[in-house]
Amino acid sequence: TVPDVTDLVDRTVPVVADWPEPGVQFRDISPLLADPQAFATVADAMAQATGEVDLVLGVEARGFLFGLAVAERLGVGFVPVRKAGKLPGSTESVSYDLEYGSATIEVPSGAVAPGQRVAVVDDVLATGGTLAATVELARRCGGEVVSAVVLIEIEALGGRAVLDVPLAALRTY
Ligand code: AMP
Repeated sequence: TVPDVTDLVDRTVPVVADWPEPGVQFRDISPLLADPQAFATVADAMAQATGEVDLVLGVEARGFLFGLAVAERLGVGFVPVRKAGKLPGSTESVSYDLEYGSATIEVPSGAVAPGQRVAVVDDVLATGGTLAATVELARRCGGEVVSAVVLIEIEALGGRAVLDVPLAALRTY
């Protein structure tokens, strides 16, 4: 079972009210990153929550921090999922809707091998749009998405319901 890091997350990830806009309760991971022991504990817990995988995908930018730490612990590769326009060469991409406008995420063609078992990792699950698009991107490459793992789930925004893979959240608010 995944260790309970509830109190640790409460202590090291403060809320910033009404940022970047009114109504948003922003979860600031900076103090967690600055505390090596706390970060190691959290990364260990996330790595225990992925299930058996061959590859970890993390979304720019904060998904890189947790995703790479998880991949390193599992002894598997990590693929940084980039915002559009950052990658040279041939890519696979998925576009998804934001509150205003849309976003596109990309990985290099061939970054996920057909049949590879994949976990997708991010810091915060809000509406779920970002992680759902990441799942879609992995599948478009032929990957089999086994799990989604986040540090924090903001339950009221309903992200869990838009994901069709098992979701593990270390802390739910
Ligand atoms: P969503 O696509 O709505 O699930 O939003 C998830 C992405 O936005 C993640 O990559 C988070 O880093 C970021 N995000 C959304 N809401 C918050 C929040 N309240 N605090 C910190 N990051 C957030």
